[in-house]
Amino acid sequence: MSISTLATKQRGYLTVPGTDIQLPYTDIRGTDSGPSLLITGGVHGGEYPGIESAIRFASSLSPDQITGRITIIHMSNPPAFYAKRQYVSPLDEKNLNRVFPGDINGSPTDRIAAVVIDALRRADFWVDLHGGDIHEALVPFTIFSDRGGDSVVAQAEAMARAYGIQHILRSSSIAGGSYAAAAEMGIPAILTESGQVGQLDETAVQVHLQGLANILIHLGMLQGAQPPQVAGPTLTQFAWISSPGTGLYYGRVTPGQEVKAGQIAGVLKDAFGEVLAEVSVPQDGVVLFAVTSLAINQGEPLFAVAAP
Ligand SMILES: [Zn+2]
Repeated sequence: MSISTLATKQRGYLTVPGTDIQLPYTDIRGTDSGPSLLITGGVHGGEYPGIESAIRFASSLSPDQITGRITIIHMSNPPAFYAKRQYVSPLDEKNLNRVFPGDINGSPTDRIAAVVIDALRRADFWVDLHGGDIHEALVPFTIFSDRGGDSVVAQAEAMARAYGIQHILRSSSIAGGSYAAAAEMGIPAILTESGQVGQLDETAVQVHLQGLANILIHLGMLQGAQPPQVAGPTLTQFAWISSPGTGLYYGRVTPGQEVKAGQIAGVLKDAFGEVLAEVSVPQDGVVLFAVTSLAINQGEPLFAVAAP
């Protein structure tokens, strides 16, 4: 039985306690009861298409179009956004997508994570919008967690297949990622990657906007033809390669490229042009992202390869 309620649309800021950080959000309650969906943009400050998509999607939705409740945090990491920082916040050098579920008594990034998770507690599903960071080239892909039990995993995978991006990755990582934290809470979540290299690219924005509309229809929150489910295997073998040293990195693989184990993926040189290391591909698969910066520090990501 659905309970009729007054449809509303509100916007404002979520305050991050103990800081002056405010997260812009829009909260939309539809005409009837239904699922509650959280959408977040800008967990990483340099991933502009996700932020732009969150803003436009919030602006475009009318409460009388939907059932249930949608909370959209347009920009989840304003300190990193305004500092134009890749990966981490200038306030504490922490990566927001490595500290979920966060700590309301912790550093600023820990506290942001806790505020986002607090919004998630009122939700049944989560879509976290990302893309390649400022120095990352990327082919669009969607990630969900293998945690949370069969039902949560199946619902998350169905969301990934509804979103519409071809490459879908099931991850076993628990290192503070948004989708993994949600899975641990029993909430199906996907992290969607579209956009790259610090560009506000309209095609990448459209991928997210279409994906979000697909998710609303898939969850029964918006009228429309059911989106086609992405076919093809789920990628489960995910290798994330970090730099073995600090120097100048000359990458030789590009996102979307099929690669073979043992293939040279890039060369690390010193400032005299001498080779410090050759970096090889660890497994057969498709390259999902690769850094574009010449400067690289030891331990920073270089590229990732995924396979079924
Ligand atoms: Zn990201």
